[in-house]
Amino acid sequence: MDFEVLRKRMVEEQLIPRGIKNYRVLEAFRKIERHKFVPQELAASAYADYPLPIGEGQTISQPYIVALMTEYLGLTGEEKVLEIGTGSGYQTAILSQLAKEVYSIERLEILAKKTEEKLKAMGYENIKLRCADGTLGWPEEAPFDRIIITAAAPRIPLPLSEQLKEGGKIMLPLGENSIQLLTLAEKTKGKLESSEICNCVFVPLLGKYACKDRDTL
Ligand code: SAH
Repeated sequence: MDFEVLRKRMVEEQLIPRGIKNYRVLEAFRKIERHKFVPQELAASAYADYPLPIGEGQTISQPYIVALMTEYLGLTGEEKVLEIGTGSGYQTAILSQLAKEVYSIERLEILAKKTEEKLKAMGYENIKLRCADGTLGWPEEAPFDRIIITAAAPRIPLPLSEQLKEGGKIMLPLGENSIQLLTLAEKTKGKLESSEICNCVFVPLLGKYACKDRDTL
């Protein structure tokens, strides 16, 4: 199977026609080998236009959704990014091409360990991983220029909004039902101003600040 052809086709047929324009983002999608981030038996479907299971009841998002979230982050190569929900590590690898440093947190030990070994073997040097509750953020490394949550949250967890730099952006699927709203929030004068992008479906964010009464927006 020629994965490079499939990758190019994914960019030409799924990303560009739906409005993904940033040259660096498109380049990252042409480069990162998505088939290495899905279970081996699903490699043939790695570039298809839908999400795939990655084990432990979790999923790798559809390529377009990964691209859309990435494009809205507006990365120039200088940013320190925090990702919550490492999962397969695909979004992490995409971010590592586009930002200066990526810090990514996964709460499930099995996934965290597998992905850490994989990313290490692939030679990524600007990625740091941690197995923990990502709703607490990564205080020792804060503040962050960008934060991306790749699981559905009812509210933006308070520690994460505190760990976001002034002028920084946070991207997440907001909502607690089966459908959420992809939301981009920007920190201006200490407050988050959010805009809604589109509907989306993600697995739920779990953890201390993932329940409604502890959160804030
Ligand atoms: N970005 C991933 C998507 C994985 S699905 C990819 O490209 O594959 C969402 C992930 O978020 C799951 O692996 C889930 O275990 C993780 N997750 C859920 N709640 C979390 C939390 N509080 N902290 C860290 N990870 C969490």
